[in-house]
Amino acid sequence: MRSLCCQFSGNAKKPSKWIEELFLSVASLLSIGSALNNIPVSAKTNAEKNMKPLKRIITIEEHFVLKDISQKVAAFNIKQNGGMVPNDAIQKELMAIVLPANDIEDVGERRIQFMDESGIDMQMLSYGAGSPQNITDKALAIELCQQSNNELAHLIKLHPTRFSGFAILPVTDPTAAAEELNRSVKELGLKGAMLSGTFNSRFFDEAEFLPIFSKAQELNVPLYMHPAIIQKDIAAHYYHSNNWPAVAGAMFASAGYGWHVDSGIAIVRLIVSGIFDKLPGLKLISGHWGELVPFFLNRLDDQLGKTLKLGRKISDYYKSNMYITPSGLFSEAQLKYVIEELGSDKIIYSGDYPFLINKETRQFLERVSISEEDKEKIAYKNAENLLSL
Ligand code: CA
Repeated sequence: MRSLCCQFSGNAKKPSKWIEELFLSVASLLSIGSALNNIPVSAKTNAEKNMKPLKRIITIEEHFVLKDISQKVAAFNIKQNGGMVPNDAIQKELMAIVLPANDIEDVGERRIQFMDESGIDMQMLSYGAGSPQNITDKALAIELCQQSNNELAHLIKLHPTRFSGFAILPVTDPTAAAEELNRSVKELGLKGAMLSGTFNSRFFDEAEFLPIFSKAQELNVPLYMHPAIIQKDIAAHYYHSNNWPAVAGAMFASAGYGWHVDSGIAIVRLIVSGIFDKLPGLKLISGHWGELVPFFLNRLDDQLGKTLKLGRKISDYYKSNMYITPSGLFSEAQLKYVIEELGSDKIIYSGDYPFLINKETRQFLERVSISEEDKEKIAYKNAENLLSL
């Protein structure tokens, strides 16, 4: 999240109320989907009345934050920035557009009410924006990740049939991160971990991070590779222009398009680095229908593949070791494409709550014209198998 702190460098100001403001602005940037909040349940057609209800719905990319942890992360980032925080006027503008709420802080009554209204039986929780993942002070990163994972485990224990979760890891110390993954799975009962974006612009295919992936394979748990704020100079080059408003540039660089490209490239980099030759049992999850990658596997094989000395085709690794989820992008065309390309065993459902709050989460899957067998796999069976739920 370092780059977020520096993303919109403008007039700096003194740090009164900054911690809360930065936390809110981080949350707001990721609340882009809130424009879709509270989509009304449409009147049922005759076909929908005949839909066979799915036995269970598990969604696996659903976010929470712990306010005290995020405040400590923001305080660290301000300290790293010489006690100053950039003017976040653009992010405030985004916030005004997307009407951020603090649903992300609730792992209780309000969330369960949404789940009940949306037909969701269980959410897999993961830390949203402002997590301690990228803190560069090793001791602080370890402490805050442990606190976060402990608190997540506590919240899950309060509603064990409704919630499960992924750990957050102190990646600045990959050995400690692997140990925290081990502790989170064996002692806390978490089901894997989420890695967000890059580690301060360093991709996770660097050899230094291998212990994290190695531990995931050893524990037989997946790592969820989630997008995050991209590097400032790349955002400036590709996504900002005098031809559109700065707030549109910020959206374009993040959830509008840019961080999906970034996250897809990060997955391709891992494959090209040979990680699945080193760790053939490693399982990774990629949201937003695979962050564009499934739609380009043939080209990756045909062109990039010519230059590599990997044991298998890029698409073979992808189809063997990757799982993908919609992250609330409920498009029937995309769903059918990924079933055709990857097979229904590799697709797991997700809604990206609360960045998207779609009360038709269950209805979308019950309504689409795919086989009942595929629906059951995507709705819950694949999640149960992958995550031991
Ligand atoms: Ca998400």
